[in-house]
Amino acid sequence: MKALVYTAPERMELQDIPEPAPGDGEVLLEIVAAGVCGSDIHGFLGHSERRKPGLVMGHETVATILETHRSVSGWKKGQRVCFNPLLTCRSCRACLSGRQNLCSSWTLFGMDRLHGTYAERLAVPARQLFALSPELSDEEAILAEPMAVVLHAFRIALSGEQPQSLAIVGGGAIGSLSLVLARRRGIAKVAVVDVNEERLQAAQRLGADRVVNAAREDPAAAIRAWAPGGACAVIEAVGSDATRRSAVAVAAKGARLLFLGLAENESPLPWIDMVRNEQAIFTSFCYAPRDFEDSVALLEARGVDIRAWTESRPLSDGQAGFLKMSKAPGATLKMMLRP
Ligand SMILES: [Zn+2]
Ligand SMILES: [Zn+2]
Repeated sequence: MKALVYTAPERMELQDIPEPAPGDGEVLLEIVAAGVCGSDIHGFLGHSERRKPGLVMGHETVATILETHRSVSGWKKGQRVCFNPLLTCRSCRACLSGRQNLCSSWTLFGMDRLHGTYAERLAVPARQLFALSPELSDEEAILAEPMAVVLHAFRIALSGEQPQSLAIVGGGAIGSLSLVLARRRGIAKVAVVDVNEERLQAAQRLGADRVVNAAREDPAAAIRAWAPGGACAVIEAVGSDATRRSAVAVAAKGARLLFLGLAENESPLPWIDMVRNEQAIFTSFCYAPRDFEDSVALLEARGVDIRAWTESRPLSDGQAGFLKMSKAPGATLKMMLRP
């Protein structure tokens, strides 16, 4: 079958690879669409330790069941599904306490040596599947995985007292989905900081009260003029030195700061200021199965729609799609590849 194989930094090639077969407890999926995630882009650029040449990436998926192993019950051929791509041991302390994202041996489809969904077909454990209604468009359903990331993040850092104002640093897919969720949750004021003018325009149309182009204005001054004293909560969805510093600079005294971005491992931050300002630091990673379930339910309720900024390309055009998303994404918040 055809698959998009990562062959070298900034290089993806359509190749023939062996046909997968469903093992015990698995179903064989026919991939309908596979989303391009920030982590796949990171891998494409050669910056990911766990994404090496020879790998088929991809973990955001809409598919139909092509075949079920005889050991599988409850699923049948032709059903439209998505699946939770995070595999965990199900027996460590983290897994048993509902924090599967912190499993000591988690793996992800499209990482290490486990091929992902930039392919015509893939076998996955049936227990990872979620049924999708026929009415839900591929463009909405493809958001199940990134939206689970955002729902988990909100559960970790924003489930207590509702913040009066929220600043989101980074207006890519995760930042934009955070904006949509903040709006739905009724957070009164939401601002988005980015350097990409087209994404800021998208943020405006998605309901941001204030957008700040950090290439042209100082985020700290702009956000402090918009929310006196700074934002009560901040989501950092890039993970670079500059954006992490911006996140701290726009935050009010006593603010909650949520770091999600994974671009760089170490970044210097003004710790004395952060301590004196008693800012609460949260980090959040991936999702637990309950977040994925909540995400599918939210999508089925038509709670998230970024179709105007979603682009589909054939899988054979994957190289160009990755180049676009890594170099000049423009207004595209989500790229989908279709085998
Ligand atoms: Zn992802
Ligand atoms: Zn575990």
